[in-house]
Amino acid sequence: MLRIPEPLLLQVLAHCEDGYPAECCGAFLGRVRDGERAVEEAHPLTNVNRERPRDRYEADPRELLALERKARENALSVVGFYHSHPDHPERPSATDTERAWPGYSYLIVSVREGRATGWRSWVLEEDPRRFVEEPITGSAA
Ligand SMILES: [Zn+2]
Repeated sequence: MLRIPEPLLLQVLAHCEDGYPAECCGAFLGRVRDGERAVEEAHPLTNVNRERPRDRYEADPRELLALERKARENALSVVGFYHSHPDHPERPSATDTERAWPGYSYLIVSVREGRATGWRSWVLEEDPRRFVEEPITGSAA
């Protein structure tokens, strides 16, 4: 389960719409409780993929490191990531599945003609390696 307050979800959708038609990405800081990831902050990260920015993303590793440090200082952790799929459905691609880690929420936002039209969250399962959808809730714990 991904628990994300509505204002943060709206912030994520706006970031994905602003970046269209490129893929946008970011990370969630929060806490894990009983297997549920509760988001407290959403941070945009620069997509450093220069060859295929429209259908690939690669979060700036230095920004991600700085964010992990900030998380630790605030007793939070990175609980998930988001990225957009410009003009594609909010389903993980083969590349997404290859590059994901277990234990995180992966929110994918479909942006069509500059508008966020759908979003779903996914968790990686291993053996066999595949993404499984998880519910998203906006209400407080
Ligand atoms: Zn993707």
